[in-house]
Amino acid sequence: MLSPLGLTPSFGFGDRLGLATPGHIVSVRGTKFAPIFAQQSVRENARTGRTPQQVLDDARRAVDAAKWDAPWGADADHLKTVEDILPFVEAGYTFFTVDPGEHVDNAADSDPLSILKRKAASFINWDHLSMLYLDQNGEQVWGNFEAVSLQRAMVKYGNAIQHAVSMFQYLSELTDAFDFEVSVDETDSPTTPLEHFFIANELTRLGVRFTSLAPRFIGRFEKGVDYIGDLNALDAELAKHAAVTAHFGTYKLSLHSGSDKFSVYPLIAKYWGGLIHVKTAGTSYLEALRVLAKCTPDLFLKIYELGCEYYEIDKRTYHVSAQLDQLPSTDDLPSLLDHFHAREMLHVTFGSTLAQFGAEIKQVLMKHETAYLEGLRTHFEKHLQLLQTSA
Ligand SMILES: [Zn+2]
Repeated sequence: MLSPLGLTPSFGFGDRLGLATPGHIVSVRGTKFAPIFAQQSVRENARTGRTPQQVLDDARRAVDAAKWDAPWGADADHLKTVEDILPFVEAGYTFFTVDPGEHVDNAADSDPLSILKRKAASFINWDHLSMLYLDQNGEQVWGNFEAVSLQRAMVKYGNAIQHAVSMFQYLSELTDAFDFEVSVDETDSPTTPLEHFFIANELTRLGVRFTSLAPRFIGRFEKGVDYIGDLNALDAELAKHAAVTAHFGTYKLSLHSGSDKFSVYPLIAKYWGGLIHVKTAGTSYLEALRVLAKCTPDLFLKIYELGCEYYEIDKRTYHVSAQLDQLPSTDDLPSLLDHFHAREMLHVTFGSTLAQFGAEIKQVLMKHETAYLEGLRTHFEKHLQLLQTSA
């Protein structure tokens, strides 16, 4: 049954081809996670040439065929403007992820005090906020807020919060039962625990009933590969973020670019238990390419070559660091899909690849349906098990 999932632990499976849901179903069955089987961003739909309705129909077909009778959700991911919303509501989506990243003032992190002060003064509610967050001496009421850190948080996120409020209000006029997520994971700089608190507190104060929030954490959460950074530092930082979410207790921590972060899952489980939402997107597409590498190596090699050609252009809106001159040789095909540089390169060039080879790829996957299902099962069982194992 397609429905909002509330605070149930949940896991999002993006599916760029419309053929992965059977594999997602066998992976998630019997776990504590409620699945999001349909999840596409506006950016992904533009690159795959699919509509919100098609994405949902593909998932629903598989759900019906597998007789999945538990709740599942559909995520309209990374909505940036009010205009993005309506097609997803009309198609019946249940989960709306708002990405107000374009309204974040990243310079606030390093603005000199004079500029910061001028920017803060332009917010009409500055006096009101000072009263809420600082005591008469300008000292913190909660956490480490003092005038300067409050100014930085407000200048950096104030407009983004307003935008999220507008998006929520517009959605509320269109539909009444939905999950609402606010994601700032694609901003230029990490979200500090203090900023996390500020965002959550402002959203709550302004009447936004959000079910999950996705901060940007320290280190690098790149597409389709494990965490890059100091795990001990991340551990300490997550402890502080967990204190913020525990303070509210009203929303789930959402982990974006959440696929393949095997070293991080035990930390997420340790701090949040089941109060989490994890999003994966292109990793199911990489499992599709693994089937091709095994069953139709010639087609795979054509895709690999095309990816190399388009990588520099296609990577622009993604967090990746793969370099073409670091790509492995193509002698050992299936295991090439485990190689860092190859994974990232293939991950972000899906749009160019599908434009040229989409129909052929789908044919191969339909013919080797079981291989795709088993590949997805192995891949996601590893994710879901680690998310249930505390560090
Ligand atoms: Zn994201």
